[in-house]
Amino acid sequence: MKSIFGYMKKYDYENLLLCQDKTLDFKAIIAIHDTTLGPATGGCRMWQYDSEMDAIEDALRLARGMTYKYAAAGVNLGGGKAVIISDPRRTDREPIFRALGKFINRLGGKYITGEDVGTTLRDMEYIRMETKYVVTLPTYLGGAGDIAPMTAFGTIRAMQACCKRVYGSDSLEGKTVTVQGLGAVGHNIVGQLHELGATMVVTDIDPEKVEDMVAKFSVEKVVPDTIYDVNCDIFSPCALGGIINDDTVKRLKCKIVCGCANNQLSEERHGDLLEGKGILYAPDYITNAGGTIYDTDRLGVGGVSHERGKEKVSRIYQKMERVFEIAARDKIPTYLAADRMAEERIRQIAEVIRID
Ligand code: NAD
Repeated sequence: MKSIFGYMKKYDYENLLLCQDKTLDFKAIIAIHDTTLGPATGGCRMWQYDSEMDAIEDALRLARGMTYKYAAAGVNLGGGKAVIISDPRRTDREPIFRALGKFINRLGGKYITGEDVGTTLRDMEYIRMETKYVVTLPTYLGGAGDIAPMTAFGTIRAMQACCKRVYGSDSLEGKTVTVQGLGAVGHNIVGQLHELGATMVVTDIDPEKVEDMVAKFSVEKVVPDTIYDVNCDIFSPCALGGIINDDTVKRLKCKIVCGCANNQLSEERHGDLLEGKGILYAPDYITNAGGTIYDTDRLGVGGVSHERGKEKVSRIYQKMERVFEIAARDKIPTYLAADRMAEERIRQIAEVIRID
């Protein structure tokens, strides 16, 4: 990124705020991309960046990603993100997160924060001491608590929509799914797939997590690097970003790629390569929106309702069907169709908002 204003103009950002306090050694960035659908919402990342420009670019890029995620999910929120430039292992957390809370509060609700890489629910509690504009909270503070099971449920709904498209039936019974990554979301996916009668081959760099899944669900295991070579119906990336790349695209032996990991395509052209191989790609930010849909559902409607939240997460199935329709209508790969679906919704709702 050479010019901040140039970048903001190119992707239509609204606001960028730089916050600092030298006594606390506090440096943070709040990026607000688009508030057409509602307040800019998105988690707070704590990370040590190589340069300030890297941190600004990350905050801007992540904020825009949230605009698309909410718009495509049918949620009435805009996209924003906060970044604290610091070592995520830093121990003086209360003053740091309360300082961020103060700056967020000044925005009067234009930005709502939450948990992200390098931050925890405990940090959100500190932010909550200074502002009500924080969404990811434990249940005892009125939040939805652990959202990973809902991210997993949304991913399963996306898999079902993919199966319907590819096999004509959305049943996962008897389907072979390879699961890469058995962390907070991945192990829930394995449990839920087991209930639905799928056969699984799993991997993780942590052997304890693998053995736990083998013992609980009698799944097969492979070493991490060989997961791409397994013959299966669905490959489910639930660990890292960038894992659909020049090396792995060649190796995949599946009909569907559908997992919860963020930024699965190393570059956009890898989405084209999947398409060329006849592999259906379930765009990651549609697939993995379940947790955030569930988490933000309580905003403006007076509290958490498991039933209502789960119902909204379940609609990821229909969102995925819509992505496939747009891809077929416009003859474009699914990753582009997802963006188009989000942009269409923002455009349409902007027109509705205009009516007074
Ligand atoms: P996590 O850190 O709990 O789990 C990730 C797992 O992947 C760990 O068990 C780790 O050992 C494993 N792993 C790392 N590198 C690996 C490799 N090379 N091969 C195999 N396994 C490997 O994270 P999580 O919360 O389960 O999230 C997983 C992915 O989903 C991330 O990309 C995250 O950004 C995305 N995501 C998570 C949520 C959520 O609700 N937690 C929501 C949306 C997106």
